[in-house]
Amino acid sequence: MSIVYGPVPSWRLGRSLGVDPVSTQEKTCSFNCIYCQLGPTRHPLTERQEFVQPSALRRELMQVGDVPVDYVTFSGVAEPTLAANLAELVAVVREQFAQPVAILTNSSLMKRGDVRRDLALFDVVVAKVDAPDETLYQQINRPFVDYTLAEVLWGIHRFREEFQGKLALQMMFVEANRDCAREMAEIARDLSPDEVQLNTPLRPSPVPPLSPAEMDEIEAAFVDLLALSKARVLNVYKATRPEVVSLDEGETRRRRPQYSRQEGGDKR
Ligand code: SF4
Repeated sequence: MSIVYGPVPSWRLGRSLGVDPVSTQEKTCSFNCIYCQLGPTRHPLTERQEFVQPSALRRELMQVGDVPVDYVTFSGVAEPTLAANLAELVAVVREQFAQPVAILTNSSLMKRGDVRRDLALFDVVVAKVDAPDETLYQQINRPFVDYTLAEVLWGIHRFREEFQGKLALQMMFVEANRDCAREMAEIARDLSPDEVQLNTPLRPSPVPPLSPAEMDEIEAAFVDLLALSKARVLNVYKATRPEVVSLDEGETRRRRPQYSRQEGGDKR
């Protein structure tokens, strides 16, 4: 298999069967995040293209068989919204799986109406926001796209107004944005997500993780500011992961270099 991988034990999505709608050999992304566990982005891309044929995805899904999964999740070695035929690929998954379908996006293209229309086809959208201002956005995410952080946030805001499913924000905390919890929590409050996932790079990464105590402080700021909202706040240090057995450990490790049966997790 080269499009479907896992299931991986995700701290946010339980037993998660992965679908990589881009499936390039190396990472293809519109960002070059300083903490990316897949290394530097050698194939930057900002325009959508078709990579994976629906028939090829259908063939691979038919081989999966009766594997227990909680979610089918679009992610992989690329930013999944770069796939121009995302809508067709989601439809193929729904032909064969009754489980909810999720996507992990870096949010970089959410200003685009076509991308928001495709994202609205998912049950769960996990959207990345790592920076409270343009300077830190450039420093942490090192985007190739021309959109400013304000435009990215506008896109998420617009999507929230249109989307009836579950919207989660994934926020990665590292040294560079460690002292920005309050500003980040204000952004989260303004975007009205259903969930905020507070992360720090616990897997091998070019930058070290924050400590449990630092993440506790960040969590406290979010809980305080989001007290009146419906959003649930998750802290990666307090998360549990299910045990899973991967269908093909080689393909899973290619997308999750640190993956093991006990200790997997999503790349972002
Ligand atoms: S962390 Fe995600 S968004 Fe950032 S460079 Fe890596 S794959 Fe792209």
